[in-house]
Amino acid sequence: MIILKLKNIDEIKGKTGDKNLLIVCSLCPYWNFSREEVEELGVKLDSEVVKLPAICNYPEIKVDPEDYDRIYVLACGAGSQVVSEVLDTEIIPVADTTGIGVKIGDKILEYCSACGDCVLEKTAGICPIKRCPKSLLNGPCGGVRDGKCEVDDIDCAWILIDKRMKKFGKWDELIGTRIPRLK
Ligand code: SF4
Ligand code: SF4
Repeated sequence: MIILKLKNIDEIKGKTGDKNLLIVCSLCPYWNFSREEVEELGVKLDSEVVKLPAICNYPEIKVDPEDYDRIYVLACGAGSQVVSEVLDTEIIPVADTTGIGVKIGDKILEYCSACGDCVLEKTAGICPIKRCPKSLLNGPCGGVRDGKCEVDDIDCAWILIDKRMKKFGKWDELIGTRIPRLK
């Protein structure tokens, strides 16, 4: 699913008009935020809330933009653009799209940034672009400690890659010059 990070709502709130609408995609936002958080957002933004199924499927949107001073959108960047296109009006996104992720327990982790040049077959199925905060193609960097990343509280992607390449018997193929082998 798409990972969304709420913008500074107090700053956005300063832009509210007399009549506001919050359009919420019913797919990824509910993966990122609880129902209560989304409802609370509608209250904070003093907005009516309209939920639409998977906005990236380009749904019909039965809303007259003339009825509102501000139209907020809680969706990924693509969904927000669709709302703007379909309604032919300006919109205000309330979240930033940061990547594609997975949910493990109550944690959401970023696994892919849609870089357009996937290297997973060379890295034992672990993405060094997104799962290494420095996007290194020749990690690990000098900051790794006990298998943990120095930047975030996560396992070092390159230690994971190294272990899995060994497990798959492909350590010798660890991308030659582009991604050097670890000792
Ligand atoms: S290399 Fe990483 S960021 Fe790029 S497409 Fe593959 S998984 Fe996504
Ligand atoms: S410790 Fe590992 S995951 Fe963290 S920045 Fe360095 S190479 Fe990347």
